[in-house]
Amino acid sequence: MHCLVIGGCGFLGRHIVEALLAKGHTVNAFDIRKTFENEKVTFFIGDLCSIQDLSPALKDVEVVFHVASPSPLSNNRELFYKVNYTGTKNVIAACKESGVKRLVLTSSASVVYEGVDIKNGDESLPYATSFMDSYSETKILQEKVVLEANNPAESFYTAAIRPHSIFGPGDVHMVPTLVQTARAGKTKFMIGNGANLVDFTYVDNVVHGHVLAAEKLVSDPDNVGGKAFFITNDEPVPF
Ligand code: NAD
Repeated sequence: MHCLVIGGCGFLGRHIVEALLAKGHTVNAFDIRKTFENEKVTFFIGDLCSIQDLSPALKDVEVVFHVASPSPLSNNRELFYKVNYTGTKNVIAACKESGVKRLVLTSSASVVYEGVDIKNGDESLPYATSFMDSYSETKILQEKVVLEANNPAESFYTAAIRPHSIFGPGDVHMVPTLVQTARAGKTKFMIGNGANLVDFTYVDNVVHGHVLAAEKLVSDPDNVGGKAFFITNDEPVPF
């Protein structure tokens, strides 16, 4: 397949790019920055909020992976809304304009989280109606527009993958933040009773979920199209 990874220079995006190459696919990477070199990848630098920026990267592409988002730590509601919601509508419009028929979104497990523990949750859970932050709020808006765009009549098929915290090589968020916090001596406080659970997923498993979703959108679109899937390693671990 000829694939485009939007956010392909980020932590997860780069792993998806490399996994697709390893499977023999050809890959374009689109991002606002370039973070690595790979002669097998065609890089496009631009903002996903601009159809003009996106269009060249979409030429002859069969599957788009939309992995980009501002960092959850940026705490900038306007930016989250612009990139995650308006920008994602732009990605859908650009895909349709360019004749792309498959779109896989990186969503988040936070779309169902309202601050109350969830154990053994599945995809039948409703979207959260009270939001933890504007990142989560706009991840819900984003996922909804992507799944609602699924349209068999136009042969346009979409799916969303919902990881929670991702770890692995190249992670600039979770493990570095934990290390920084520990180095600053801020690990002396416990929130809750010490039995809180949290879900971590190794990056290769998240990548695998994305690749499977793309392959199924091609081979079995009527069963997978318009659906979201949690992705995890195993049982949650005490945090
Ligand atoms: P990351 O910050 O490493 O990568 C995101 C990439 O998106 C960056 O390279 C950034 O430059 C790019 N980007 C941001 N705004 C853009 C724009 N307007 N146009 C083009 N590119 C833009 O983050 P990540 O950890 O790899 O996260 C990837 C996706 O996974 C995000 O959608 C995030 O919401 C989701 N997610 C991440 C985690 C996690 O623990 N890392 C957990 C759940 C969901």
